Amino acid sequence: PAAGELLLEAKAVRKTFGGLVAVNDVSFSVHAGEIIGLIGPNGAGKSTTFNLVSGVLGLSGGEVHFRGQRVDGLPSRQIARRGLSRTFQHVKLIPEMTVLENVAIGGYLRSGKGTLSAMLRRNRAEERQLFAEAHKQLERIGLADRMFEPAGNLALGPQRMVEIARALATDPALLLLDEPAAGLRLKEKQALAAVLRQLKGQGLSILLVEHDMDFVMGLTDRIVVMEFGTRLMDGTPAEVQASPAVRAAYLGT
Ligand code: ADP
Ligand code: MG
Repeated sequence: PAAGELLLEAKAVRKTFGGLVAVNDVSFSVHAGEIIGLIGPNGAGKSTTFNLVSGVLGLSGGEVHFRGQRVDGLPSRQIARRGLSRTFQHVKLIPEMTVLENVAIGGYLRSGKGTLSAMLRRNRAEERQLFAEAHKQLERIGLADRMFEPAGNLALGPQRMVEIARALATDPALLLLDEPAAGLRLKEKQALAAVLRQLKGQGLSILLVEHDMDFVMGLTDRIVVMEFGTRLMDGTPAEVQASPAVRAAYLGT
């Protein structure tokens, strides 16, 4: 996508679970070349919003457009194939498999090209291509030197990077990350931020949910703040930091 192209547009997206309004007519957009943060207290509706725009959950109202086409109602695989890839908050790598296998297999399953059994029956040429692509993504995030180690050998920070490489294996235009810095040590957070900045420099756009304010402030171009299912504000990190409403939401005062 050309820099500045409108990639993702959420128009008044809504999700109710029984009587609970988890996401209450939230609108925001992501343009090519941006890193956008989605922040807010626990239960604000951030993960649900991710599930809505990536097609994992159906909408109760509103519309989602990706690269100029309406995508709500499409299965998440089809949205992924159009260039929107995501990580999940609690999805783990397979610890016994190598880093390279995790990326190759994860990438294959995400691509929507086929099932696991189809993958196990793939021919030599396909297999070589799959592993070459996985290798390329691992180089991109600086983990190629550890690709033959079992994923379970890696510390949490590098494991998070492998999850990102897996999401990159489908060559997305937009990457959605749900709490990528959760549980990481400061050094690991800094390394992760450096990788995300580098990916941005390569033309990737990123939408990330994050709890860690410092991490988001130093990394994003714009921030959407959610509280109780609604959009509280949308602004630059400086604007968000200066907002009394945002402070109140976080400090509960
Ligand atoms: P966040 O990611 O900001 O912490 P979530 O999007 O996970 O918030 O949740 C928003 C609200 O929706 C919470 O009150 C949560 O309990 C509720 N919720 C999320 N998923 C479901 C579900 N599948 N069924 C019922 N309620 C849900
Ligand atoms: Mg969440």
